[in-house]
Amino acid sequence: MPTIQNQLFIDGRFVDAQDGATIDVLNPHDNSLITRVAEAKAADVELAVAAAERAFGPWSRMAAADRGRLLLKLADRIEACADELAHLESLDTGHPIRDARHIDVPRTAACYRYFGGMADKFQGSVVPVETGFLNYVMRSPIGVVGQIVPWNFPLMFTAWKMGPALAAGNTVVLKPSEITPLSTLRIAELMAEVGFPPGAVNIVVGYGHAAGQALAEHPRVGKIAFTGSTATGRRVVEASKGNLKRVQLELGGKGANIVFEDANLVAAVNGSAWAIFHNQGQACIAGSRLIVHERVADEFLDRFVGLAKSIRLGNPLDPDTEMGPLTSALHRDRVLAYVDVAREQGGEVLSGGRAPDAAELARGCYVEPTVVRARATDRVAQEEVFGPFVTVTTFKDDEEALAIANGTEYGLGSGLWTRDLSRAHRFGQAIRAGMVWVNSYKRVNPGSPFGGVGQSGYGREMGFEAMHDYTEAKSIWVNVDAVIPPHFKR
Ligand code: NAD
Repeated sequence: MPTIQNQLFIDGRFVDAQDGATIDVLNPHDNSLITRVAEAKAADVELAVAAAERAFGPWSRMAAADRGRLLLKLADRIEACADELAHLESLDTGHPIRDARHIDVPRTAACYRYFGGMADKFQGSVVPVETGFLNYVMRSPIGVVGQIVPWNFPLMFTAWKMGPALAAGNTVVLKPSEITPLSTLRIAELMAEVGFPPGAVNIVVGYGHAAGQALAEHPRVGKIAFTGSTATGRRVVEASKGNLKRVQLELGGKGANIVFEDANLVAAVNGSAWAIFHNQGQACIAGSRLIVHERVADEFLDRFVGLAKSIRLGNPLDPDTEMGPLTSALHRDRVLAYVDVAREQGGEVLSGGRAPDAAELARGCYVEPTVVRARATDRVAQEEVFGPFVTVTTFKDDEEALAIANGTEYGLGSGLWTRDLSRAHRFGQAIRAGMVWVNSYKRVNPGSPFGGVGQSGYGREMGFEAMHDYTEAKSIWVNVDAVIPPHFKR
């Protein structure tokens, strides 16, 4: 069994909430209680921010290579605990254990390692200004940063947020989702073990309207980095305005995934299934809108629906399970409600659309892989369902494909399948999105910027862009040997 921490992590110690409140953490496989975790409210957030403030001076002045070394040690420690962390993530979120072990944990370690290596390589510049002056631009940390993450990839998303923030010299107060806090608390424990100083990282588990709101409003938090729904993102922007804190938003998506008539259909079917059904479709970048050329639609759908029907649902801790439960019962009900919405607007359910029959899954949050034929303007093709639910729409020509792809308010991830090189580049550039994958889908790497446009948010995680987003440019002018005549002659 993995180690389960169930207290807040403030100033290097695990502590109860000041008022003793707790939140039930449930196993989505059967809705049984895993543990009760301390629930932070505004007073606990205040303690965490104060601890982060005290830690900021020493942490930001520490040699960048030393901050980097701690992140590298953390990456090694995560790899040493890979089985345990995978088990914990699977138990808490419902990710199939094979995915948690071979995707979430390695990507988490890779992210901390990338930013550990980046810490002493990210540098400022010298500007060739007028004679007699030296002008250099430093990248200074912002200070205390607040970070709020959702429940769909807690292990990875805390790495994406904490890795660059810490490498750049900021201190962190992070609020995990109240639904899936366990892997984040375990990471905090590993950080303490490898030597992160008290206060550099603080974890306040709590509800959005209380702990999240308090963090977003906090006058001494210099930046808030938020990943979650577009509706909550708007509330975060509103809450942040008191001290004009910087805001970075990673919000919802409605990924277009276009299959052209010249695509390798075998690759497109497999890639499109990964695009939507990995993690039960609970991914902001999920390829949730399949847009298929009408000439290949029948053959594509025949194979794709066949594959969807064959996916093995089951207890996420079973190594043979390919799809686990959704992460909460509330969310399962929300996803299933969209099946009715699809039918009401004339959509045709080609597979799934219901909870599975198997008795051993009856108490869990399971939904069958669902494929729905819909029009591009239908609600199910416009609103983020965030489940194993994909709409299929056909198109006649490139112009129509592009109009459908760009026809939502979102702009996060998207994919296209074609053998035509110039079309691949043309669409890569024309699709309104932060990321486009050609003959592939959902590739991420700590070096490559991740984020969206439109209602999918702004700012970028990962890569050099993330380091920019966690630092301020500070311009310093030194008069080396310039003689400046007096401006006001007396
Ligand atoms: P959510 O918006 O309900 O919650 C996200 C986080 O915000 C949680 O920690 C929650 O407690 C907190 N929160 C809620 N209300 C708040 C408030 N008023 N002030 C401050 N914090 C508050 O989202 P969710 O249901 O947890 O996650 C699913 C959503 O996240 C989807 O829309 C998905 O697309 C999006 N998401 C986006 C990305 C991305 O990188 N763009 C990645 C993953 C998920």
